[in-house]
Amino acid sequence: MRVSGVVSGGVRVSARRLALVTAPRTGEAFESWVDRMARVNRCPPAEVATMMGLGLRGASADVRPPLFGVRSDDVVRRSVFAATGVSDERVDAMHLSVFEGGPLSVSAVLAAGRARRPSEGREWAAVHGSRACPCCLLVSGGVWQLWWKLSCAAVCPEHRVVLLDRCPSCGWVLRWGGERPRVVPAQWVRPPTCCANSVRGRPCSQWLPAVRVSRADGGTVEAQRRWLDVACGRVRPGLGGVEVAAGEWFAALRACVILLRLGLPRVLGRLPDVPGWCARVLLEERVERGAHGGRFGWGPASARAAASFLTVVMPLLAAEDMRELSRRLAPLVRTAADEGCLAARPLARLAVPEVFAEAVAAQVPVGRSARSPWEKGSSR
Ligand SMILES: [Zn+2]
Ligand SMILES: [Zn+2]
Repeated sequence: MRVSGVVSGGVRVSARRLALVTAPRTGEAFESWVDRMARVNRCPPAEVATMMGLGLRGASADVRPPLFGVRSDDVVRRSVFAATGVSDERVDAMHLSVFEGGPLSVSAVLAAGRARRPSEGREWAAVHGSRACPCCLLVSGGVWQLWWKLSCAAVCPEHRVVLLDRCPSCGWVLRWGGERPRVVPAQWVRPPTCCANSVRGRPCSQWLPAVRVSRADGGTVEAQRRWLDVACGRVRPGLGGVEVAAGEWFAALRACVILLRLGLPRVLGRLPDVPGWCARVLLEERVERGAHGGRFGWGPASARAAASFLTVVMPLLAAEDMRELSRRLAPLVRTAADEGCLAARPLARLAVPEVFAEAVAAQVPVGRSARSPWEKGSSR
């Protein structure tokens, strides 16, 4: 076994060459690859992580370095290369940082990750847990896709099913860890197709491909596909006929999600063609996100909620010109104005593109106290 040394902040971390290496797969999450490496080397993922020089904080407590799975750094890249021969680019591609400037802001995700109580969705990504398509897990032998960690991950475009949020046996968010959130189990091997969340000190044995899934609506699959194209940088997004930066497009999407929540339930009667299941899910989600002050700025609370938001919001954002965009946004903007919540802080904080701000401003009722959250001179 080859031994190499990596110096991290004055601490020498030893990274050994692992006996067996399984290559990362396209789109795979870093934790997923660590689990699969552990599986082939027949040792706990925490041990593999340590051998990769990942500097875990101890075997039993919170076995999660602050950047784990979010952003790699030189130390991680060098240790992983020394231990496995996997290149820097492939390591970076397994981290949430690939979505920087698009659906995520890495610094915000890291700040939320440092919070005492880890959240699911505050920064529109699950740092600890993940959603999953049981069919994909079955055919890939347990490769967890990185994009499943994003709060707008709703359906699998390939298998046309709604993603799974929680394990039906233990009830925890998938890959959350169980009673104590952690991304790397300290003691046991986590079989890539099993839940393995910790329940009273034992790994949950649920085999995830056996979990029943519901079929996704055709419109939702299409919406998820277009959303993924933008998130993965495959298409340049536009709004109202104007090309915008990916980050701005996602800010507009978030704004629509927040406006929709603010306008519930009245907005449902004003929007055309909202499927019945969407309406039901949105009302349920509103209870969860609206119950705690400030959470209505968070990402969709479940895969089904994400499916509902994508189904309703994506067609609004697909308007071909500015007038049409404004017309489609009218029900959201007017209902929020009627409810007196256009001034909500999570809205004003979003860096939406000018074309979107104008489309919204055009629908704010004249002669009332309501103002567009992005109106120049209003507090940001
Ligand atoms: Zn799938
Ligand atoms: Zn479970």
